[in-house]
Amino acid sequence: MPDVLIVGSYITDLTARTAALPKPGETVIGTDFQTGPGGKGGNQAAAAARLGSEVVFVTKIGRDAFGEQAKHHFMKEGIADTYIIETEEAPTGTALIAVDDKGENMIVVTPGACGHLSAGEVEQAEKVFEEAPVLLLQLETGMGAVEKAAELAFRKGAEIILNPAPYRELPDRLLQKVTYLTPNETEAEEMTGVAVTDKDSAEKAAAILLSRGVSTVIITLGRKGCFVMNNYEKFTVSGEPVKAVDTTGAGDAFNGALAHFISTGMELHEACLLANRAAAVSVTRTGTAPAMARLEELKRL
Ligand code: ATP
Repeated sequence: MPDVLIVGSYITDLTARTAALPKPGETVIGTDFQTGPGGKGGNQAAAAARLGSEVVFVTKIGRDAFGEQAKHHFMKEGIADTYIIETEEAPTGTALIAVDDKGENMIVVTPGACGHLSAGEVEQAEKVFEEAPVLLLQLETGMGAVEKAAELAFRKGAEIILNPAPYRELPDRLLQKVTYLTPNETEAEEMTGVAVTDKDSAEKAAAILLSRGVSTVIITLGRKGCFVMNNYEKFTVSGEPVKAVDTTGAGDAFNGALAHFISTGMELHEACLLANRAAAVSVTRTGTAPAMARLEELKRL
């Protein structure tokens, strides 16, 4: 029985380090190159699986070398691949990332195959919607796939976590199905027009999102932790005092962990506390999926 169902993106990160980023038309020499698994859906799947969830991932990859790497990664992380669709129509999604000595980066994301995940393909996975108590969604695939997944999960009575990243306008008919909406500060501002800088502004933004039909709003606040609000309670979870070396994928770590702990039936405050802790562990390591926390590490923190 799956605990967490994730419908979303898988992207291969191709990261080069270089002293200075190239200007248009310029070629620079890199000092280090790495390929690694990425994409919000893939990262969140790894985060939930490492904490012990049975994760079923619905995504689309190309029939190419990066697709083969993806399958190897899913197997290594214990992510079920029953609904991973392979296509020859588009390559596996990629992110070309250049990082300079100051940590500045330039990124070109080509969603490729996962950008073509369709509502019909999500519907073919309908059986798994009957079994998973929690569905986790982000916005790197087409909106048709996102809305179909929410519709199926809502009909089956599952709890739906929507991480609205990257930002795009969302219809109220989708937000009304969402149990937990998890924007970061920027996305909360983009969705509400309220600049989230402190607890008061977070509360103002959350109130607007609740009025659009979401059941609970969880705004992640980077190193400051997260702010949580619904019609019954509101609270802040303070950030963990860790030495951050790479915060890329922190939001994915938080969302994957939240889905895991919610699926265990844990009470909301406790689930947010542990998701916050799992995300804090992930920022102490470089990379995205490979940086995700394991359960025993949360106990140690
Ligand atoms: P990203 O886009 O980098 O993946 P995000 O902007 O979606 O991240 P954030 O709000 O920056 O998400 O961070 C998500 C969570 O990660 C926070 O709620 C917190 O739990 C944890 N976190 C992020 N940065 C730090 C940090 N410097 N120290 C401790 N915890 C952190």
